[in-house]
Amino acid sequence: MPTQIELARSGSITEEMKIIAQQEGLEPEKIRNRVARGTVVIFHNVVRDNLRRYTAIGEGLFTKVNVNLGASTNHYDLNEELEKVRIANEYGADTIMDLTDGGDIDAARRAIIKEAWMPVGTVPIYQVYYDSVVKRKYAINFTEDDVFNVLEKHFKDGVDFVTVHTGITLELAKKAVKADRVAGVVSRGGTILLAWEIQNEKENPLYANFDYLLEMAKEYDVVLSLGDALRPGGIDDAHDELQVGELVNNARLARRAIEKGVQVMIEGPGHMPLDHIEADIRLEKALTGGVPYYVLGILPTDIAAGYDHIAGAIGGAIAAAAGADMLCYLTPAEHLSLPNPEQVKEGLIAFKIAAHVGDIVKLGERARKKDREMSSARKNLDWKKMFELTFDPERARKIYRQYKDYESGSCTMCGDLCVYLVIKRTTKQAGSQGQAQTAVQG
Ligand code: SF4
Repeated sequence: MPTQIELARSGSITEEMKIIAQQEGLEPEKIRNRVARGTVVIFHNVVRDNLRRYTAIGEGLFTKVNVNLGASTNHYDLNEELEKVRIANEYGADTIMDLTDGGDIDAARRAIIKEAWMPVGTVPIYQVYYDSVVKRKYAINFTEDDVFNVLEKHFKDGVDFVTVHTGITLELAKKAVKADRVAGVVSRGGTILLAWEIQNEKENPLYANFDYLLEMAKEYDVVLSLGDALRPGGIDDAHDELQVGELVNNARLARRAIEKGVQVMIEGPGHMPLDHIEADIRLEKALTGGVPYYVLGILPTDIAAGYDHIAGAIGGAIAAAAGADMLCYLTPAEHLSLPNPEQVKEGLIAFKIAAHVGDIVKLGERARKKDREMSSARKNLDWKKMFELTFDPERARKIYRQYKDYESGSCTMCGDLCVYLVIKRTTKQAGSQGQAQTAVQG
């Protein structure tokens, strides 16, 4: 079956392209053209039949937000993970990634795909490691076949995109182990491949067999997300030789994927100071010719533990404004724990805000409509409308009612001194004085 890129190149506008065009408020032809050039990707594995929320990312589209969830080797509770999926459904996550790295990984992935309304991504190398290494007492002796067999299993289950750390070559892995980085290597998948390459003195199997990976991805029209194994994990490590070297490798591979008709995006940092973020986005776009960029955060400080969703949203807003296409959310639990469902909600809302703040700059008028409606609702003290327009109506309503039990008039912040009431009273008074004068004169 032809992929979205191949269909776009042949001039066909697919059902997915029409849906995306409508959601984005753009002409279907524009979406077709951008898919054909690889500057827009649409997530939809051909075997996935329960997608209810379609998502595309890339050139001229709204910035999307990904929610990471999934159990770990220390804490495996499938019901809790499914609760997080329901939160992601309800509060508008555009994609989710199942990062389950222990326990019954197959069961978790299948249940999550069944429950999720939106595209689902995974990092298959976690399962390779768990099945082949943890269960075999930590000898890094998995084979290339182990890697591709797990990938195929994920594709067959309907996963819409996968992170593959293709850019960490043996040469970069050797440099990484000697590098004087403050935070070292912080990618889980990247570390697994690095350890395997060094231990076996062999090239990265995803890099060495990239054409085979493309053939597999093409069969299911899975989007390849070229992972950033060497992303900076501390602001001091931003834009070092390792990060940029890996990006150059991934940019070259991405162009090859597009030529072969495989949809592809690139993953970005990570931690970096605020004034590096715009340059980072521009670099990726320039090196790849506009391949969609999916950034993790971006975190502009290393010391916000407990509040990393706020720090990350600051960096995420700057990234979105500069052209990042999808933000991977962070929760208050980042660097501390597997997030609980409430923390997933907090992280998602923080990043929905960041994406929107970025879009106001990136997309201009197309992104501002709701802001204008909100300002107008505020002026009219129209609380119903205000709650409807906000990211978390339930929370906004709860706070509004914390010192009063009805929803009209001013709020308790200024009470009778509410600016809108003062103006209303003044204009009313002026109006009735004017009427009285007219009556006397008459
Ligand atoms: S009372 Fe103050 S804060 Fe509340 S709506 Fe009026 S002006 Fe705004």
